[in-house]
Amino acid sequence: MSDCVFCKIASKEAPAEIIHETERVISFLDINPINFGHTLVIPKGHFKKFHEIPDEINQELIIVLSKVTKAITEALEPHGYNIFTNNGRFAGQAIMHCHFHIVPRYFNDGLKFRPTSKSYKKNEMKQFGDLIREKLKN
Ligand code: AMP
Ligand code: ZN
Repeated sequence: MSDCVFCKIASKEAPAEIIHETERVISFLDINPINFGHTLVIPKGHFKKFHEIPDEINQELIIVLSKVTKAITEALEPHGYNIFTNNGRFAGQAIMHCHFHIVPRYFNDGLKFRPTSKSYKKNEMKQFGDLIREKLKN
């Protein structure tokens, strides 16, 4: 049996405020919300990080993500929302079962999601582009 709390929610061994469910994806409220209505969307299968999830599950996942986002915007009428996924301990991932956060946002909620940014030096942008594009070649 898995020790993973999100696996337990997916298999209904652990309680959750479930919002929506399909064959391979489930969505539920975050227990410690950034703002009320903060919702998580996860694959039911245990994948630690986003890049480990197979395409066919991701197709289902993005459709659920979209449906639940639409429902949140209609139900709560936030001024905006953030969708994000933390992958790896150093990226702030606490639960090692990949999940997408949908966080309703309000003009006065005081949150900052992008505290700093860097600048590329001359040619650096192309170098990073080349490195990543190389891995996309079949
Ligand atoms: P992350 O830091 O991206 O791994 O986020 C993990 C999220 O899972 C946090 O926002 C927690 O509040 C949430 N969380 C942890 N345990 C539960 C649970 N049992 N049910 C719902 N949400 C949970
Ligand atoms: Zn899991």
